[in-house]
Amino acid sequence: MRIEHRWFEHRRIDDDITLIWEPWVEPLIRCNIWHVRGRDSDLLVDTGLGIASLRSAARDIFDKRLTAVATHTHFDHIGGIHEFEERVVHESEAAVMADGSSPMMLRACDFSDEERRELGELGYPVESEVLISALPEASFDIAAHTTRAAPCTRSVREGDRLDLGDRSFEVLHLPGHSPGSIGLWEAATGILFSGDAVYDGALLTNFPGADLDDYARTMHRLRELPVRVVHGGHEASFGRDRLRAIADQYLRSWEKAGVAVPGQDGP
Ligand SMILES: [Zn+2]
Repeated sequence: MRIEHRWFEHRRIDDDITLIWEPWVEPLIRCNIWHVRGRDSDLLVDTGLGIASLRSAARDIFDKRLTAVATHTHFDHIGGIHEFEERVVHESEAAVMADGSSPMMLRACDFSDEERRELGELGYPVESEVLISALPEASFDIAAHTTRAAPCTRSVREGDRLDLGDRSFEVLHLPGHSPGSIGLWEAATGILFSGDAVYDGALLTNFPGADLDDYARTMHRLRELPVRVVHGGHEASFGRDRLRAIADQYLRSWEKAGVAVPGQDGP
């Protein structure tokens, strides 16, 4: 496989927000890494696969103290978090981050036939043998790559705040995709970092750790949030109309499947 020393790409979204991503990674496991600049400190929302050093890549772009937040502990979001001194996660997934050693599903054979079939139907086909198209260095061992133990330095819950000096994000507990999924909500600007609770692509609702009853409550809550822009854990950012359309689509399909959906008229 070819070697690519430049592992991350980045694009400024506005004065203070930068999107970082791993271009040599298939969309299924390529998460959005968001950098938010604050007056006193900066936030990094999710950290990708940990294949190459996000910390040194970030050091070339940013100059300030970084707090790394895991929107949840799926391997494609926490691979690089061990590199940062300040690590934030929801209390219900803190143990997963402390433990490390979660397998990285970088190869087609890491998924069951059933999972591959479902992912294909959702528009995330697992076709190539390996889900990365380059290596950061010749010695990188795809089969041996795991998450690393990275105990959080702060566990958070609903209503907690992450304060950057001139801006402040409220933690929203958004379970469903995973038990400890969180969003970071800035009411003053209408910006929501939503992790995998919602993004503009097929949501994975049928994988270990997902809970549809929780997810329905989360989706109903998201639909009511006065967002201006949602920066998700995958795919492109979107606005409130799209958020409501996505939420309605899932709530309808879950209701049909017999999931208890809040805020709807009873039978
Ligand atoms: Zn996830």
